[in-house]
Amino acid sequence: MLTEPTPSHSPRAVENAILRVVAELRARHRVEAVGIGAAGWVDNEQAVVRFSPHLAWRSEPLKAQLTERIDLPLIVDNDANAAAWAEYRFGAGRGSSVMVCITLGTGIGGGLVIGGQLFRGTYGMAGEWGHMIAVPDGHWCECGNRGCWEQYASGNALVREARALARTNSPTAYRLLELVGGDPDRITGPEVTAAAISGEPNSIELLADVGTWLGRGIANLAAALDPEVVVIGGGVSAAGDLLLLPAQRAFSRTLTGRGFREEARLALAHFRNDAGLIGAADLARHSILEPPDSARFGFWPRRRKRKQRLARIRTPRRL
Ligand SMILES: [Zn+2]
Repeated sequence: MLTEPTPSHSPRAVENAILRVVAELRARHRVEAVGIGAAGWVDNEQAVVRFSPHLAWRSEPLKAQLTERIDLPLIVDNDANAAAWAEYRFGAGRGSSVMVCITLGTGIGGGLVIGGQLFRGTYGMAGEWGHMIAVPDGHWCECGNRGCWEQYASGNALVREARALARTNSPTAYRLLELVGGDPDRITGPEVTAAAISGEPNSIELLADVGTWLGRGIANLAAALDPEVVVIGGGVSAAGDLLLLPAQRAFSRTLTGRGFREEARLALAHFRNDAGLIGAADLARHSILEPPDSARFGFWPRRRKRKQRLARIRTPRRL
């Protein structure tokens, strides 16, 4: 694997970084296509990154810009979609009918695969369930609303609550404070998770709170989408059962129609940080190769089927 920093100040600098990686990989391997999992809102034509919170992309025609400079078939998709695709194809959601993917990082990323196809919505904005309102008038969210789900079930939520607890000077938080040299502002998500795994009771409770909010939100998603499997990935999922079991309890407790219906399976993601890479690469691969199971997976743009139909219509019948 190769990594390059992606400078946040200039779209051209990010393009140059992508070009360097592609050139280096092409020097070592036979490369047939390039897949980009972009951290931003990608339009439904998979060509323009409308907005990226961490990069300088604002209505950036990324596909056109890169196609001009890379002489290979190229696809662009949202990074959470790419990660969901990896889980659907090779991971915890393999072959499921409806798969919801939830990536718990600083916020909540989402992806949805229905009937073997990534569901992107009308404008490419589907899957932003981190911004469903969970608590009216709750914590402010960087999206400009209050009470979004990701303010309660994410790495940021975990850190905010851990720091708030540490600042109370409660004797229960001493162990956690000790771990960061007595400074609440130095508490990070991975530290809380590591402390919880080592048995520190307050960190276990903090993760259970995040898990409970996670389970409630999943019950909302299940009410809307009735998934077969909900795959939970991202940094916070490293907590494993310390997150998953409270989520499962809250999900079962909140699910509409509980006791009279099948429940979606909650599963930890198979891939860690490289899900986006694997998914983007597979989406690129399938844009150039037609696998034997393509009909079942329904990858192909409807356009192609229409073309085939037109070709049939135009073929004169033999008399
Ligand atoms: Zn929000």
